[in-house]
Amino acid sequence: MKAALFLSGSCNLACSYCYASQCPKAPIGPDTLHQSLAFLKARAQGTLALTLIGGEPLLFPDLVREIVRVCRSWDTPRTHIAITTNGTHLSEALLDHFQAEDVEVYLSLDGDQEAHDTHRKTPQGQGSYAEVLRWVPKLLAHHPKAQVSSVITPQTAGRLADSVASLLSLGFRDLSMGLDYAGAWSLESLDILEAQYHQVAEHYIRDHRAGQAYHLSFLDDHILTWTSGGTARSACCDLGDQILAIGPSGRLYPCLQFVGADDGQQAIGDVWRGLDPKARCRVLCQAKPQLPCGDCTLKLRCFRWCGCTNWRATGNLHQPPAILCEHERRIIPLADRVAERLYAERNPSFIQKFYAPVAGREDA
Ligand code: SF4
Ligand code: SF4
Repeated sequence: MKAALFLSGSCNLACSYCYASQCPKAPIGPDTLHQSLAFLKARAQGTLALTLIGGEPLLFPDLVREIVRVCRSWDTPRTHIAITTNGTHLSEALLDHFQAEDVEVYLSLDGDQEAHDTHRKTPQGQGSYAEVLRWVPKLLAHHPKAQVSSVITPQTAGRLADSVASLLSLGFRDLSMGLDYAGAWSLESLDILEAQYHQVAEHYIRDHRAGQAYHLSFLDDHILTWTSGGTARSACCDLGDQILAIGPSGRLYPCLQFVGADDGQQAIGDVWRGLDPKARCRVLCQAKPQLPCGDCTLKLRCFRWCGCTNWRATGNLHQPPAILCEHERRIIPLADRVAERLYAERNPSFIQKFYAPVAGREDA
């Protein structure tokens, strides 16, 4: 089971695309925190992947330490703990702690300085890149596999190739880069992004040939939908069953995008009474619109089923934004061409990345 625990809506930054800005600033109280952890422990039955999120969770390092302490005291199989941070409040002591307690760090960094500072600013309008970069060498020294999470917007699309190169040159090898589908995308900005994707794809092939493989989500995740025989729906949202978000109030939500003001409007229960089937239906039982997918050959591979993305962009869980459809029609064929070239060469890094796990499953 996967869960995101919102510690608070407080943040020292004011990113223009932030979906947590409505969330109350007061941190989760001690009783709610302990009840949330008890609820998750009981519900997950030993298979919990917990991500701490906000706001900026590291504004509350004592809460973070307490959560880690409680989770590590459980006699269930080890809980996977991760923290999503803007990186401005890291410290040597926290990095030591995360390393000792096996806490994964997801760093929000949108690419090179120009891309990052376009949206990720302080409330006074100052870019945060330099502040984040201060901690990158130490972060990678402690956590060489630290993941970078980047948001691509129409304003930063034209910097994607430089951004990927910049993140790789800093030493990151796990790049999770996704579009802000709620942004003001147009066909023109998607054209710009597509041209950047082509540049990045050539670099990706070059680097795999040089034996320097890395994870690049927009290529790898779409290649994976081919090698694994279709989109693994369970890998993303199941909206309130095996994936949950908990607001600072202790209310349960189907996904972190639904927490909003944490005022209960989209809540599907709480950590004291558990899931409420009626509330869950009120939030999730939306009419399914007639989609134009018909016999589209990309049906099994397109990411149109992500209810939170759809809900945030169109207000309907089942209605993907038009730009997502257009995006998928461009990125999937490109990912396939990259895969075909590397597979034809039997590129060892590529085979290892995409086929070793499959071979392992078959052998099992
Ligand atoms: S760092 Fe995260 S929580 Fe803070 S303003 Fe930016 S997107 Fe929102
Ligand atoms: S690419 Fe568009 S038409 Fe095809 S399955 Fe995805 S959303 Fe539907």
